[in-house]
Amino acid sequence: MVPPIPVEALDVSVFTVPTDAPEADGTLAWDSTTMVLVQAHTGGQLGTGWTYGPPACSSIVAEQLAGQVLGRDAMDVGGAFDAMVKAVRNAGRVGAVGYAISAVDVALWDLKARLLGLPLHRILGAVRTEVPVYGSGGFTSYSPAQLDKQLSGWVHEQRIPRVKIKIGESWGRDPGRDLARMAQARATIGADVELFVDANGGYTAKQAIRVMSAAAELDIRWFEEPVTSDDLDGLRHVRAAVRADVTAGEYGYDLTYFARMCAAAAVDCVQADVTRCGGITEWLRVAAVAAAHHLEISGHCAPHLHAHVAAATPNLRHLEWFHDHVRIEDMFFDGTLDPTGGAITPDPVAPGHGLTLRHDVAERYRVGEPTRRVTSCSESGREGAHSLDSDVRR
Ligand SMILES: [Mg+2]
Repeated sequence: MVPPIPVEALDVSVFTVPTDAPEADGTLAWDSTTMVLVQAHTGGQLGTGWTYGPPACSSIVAEQLAGQVLGRDAMDVGGAFDAMVKAVRNAGRVGAVGYAISAVDVALWDLKARLLGLPLHRILGAVRTEVPVYGSGGFTSYSPAQLDKQLSGWVHEQRIPRVKIKIGESWGRDPGRDLARMAQARATIGADVELFVDANGGYTAKQAIRVMSAAAELDIRWFEEPVTSDDLDGLRHVRAAVRADVTAGEYGYDLTYFARMCAAAAVDCVQADVTRCGGITEWLRVAAVAAAHHLEISGHCAPHLHAHVAAATPNLRHLEWFHDHVRIEDMFFDGTLDPTGGAITPDPVAPGHGLTLRHDVAERYRVGEPTRRVTSCSESGREGAHSLDSDVRR
């Protein structure tokens, strides 16, 4: 019998990376993206997870979650997840707490796979070798030339057969420009590539329907968050009136959220995000809820954290190859994947998710304190926290 392998330490770091150009969607604008990175240690192995969220996620990991994970058998990821969820009852799981749980969960899955010496998709139970992706960006802040360049790169250089742009500019106040940008996108990508749009909740329901009617000849296939994802009735009304698939789910943090969305017949495809919904553990359950409603699931952003679980999800539709996160992940990690042809192939040999942090690159974007290490070896039996010097960190 293999003895338990206790998780020995969690390291937490925060990095903020400026975007390569101003970015905006229908309801938000930003010029940088923050990654909260968690690394779980045991037996000389290292598992890595992260979330794209506020720096406060770091404190949540160290102060709310680490005590539930440290000392627990690294094989028991389900037990760690369950303990984390129960421990945040009063803190509240929705929002940054859910982001933090997700980062730890992914780190633990990666650690387990590396301890077993297997690619993550193999221990999850792969159902496919290639995972379809769609190019995603097309920010409302882009000029026509920027939009053309980005779409051309995905479609004409990388041969990705589906792309998504942002619409709903300024909370739906400029549908004329939205329509002009959709028309430009169709002209750039040609007739045979699928065109998706994401309003990020910027429209009202009737407005969303009118915009899709005006864009009828553009053959839009995917209409993401035409109204806020909190408005399930609104989503259902839009869904009934437009040809495009209506989709939502990127702000889902637990099974109940997704069960309600599915039961409301609000979407044609469920979206979920392993860096928000509760990591790989909860993704698998969300996918099962979707499957029970005869729906597919699509991965939101952070494509390299979704790749392996996507390969193990029978009702997967595709992953979002999001410009902002692809750029950061390519900068920060060795082992990132190539979307040429419209699909990524998780490494069939490398243990875990196959990614290795480039510490020298990441350090350039560190914000706040040095890496915070939380261990279970304090005299009180509770976790202790301290900062690491750079050589330990590596
Ligand atoms: Mg979206």
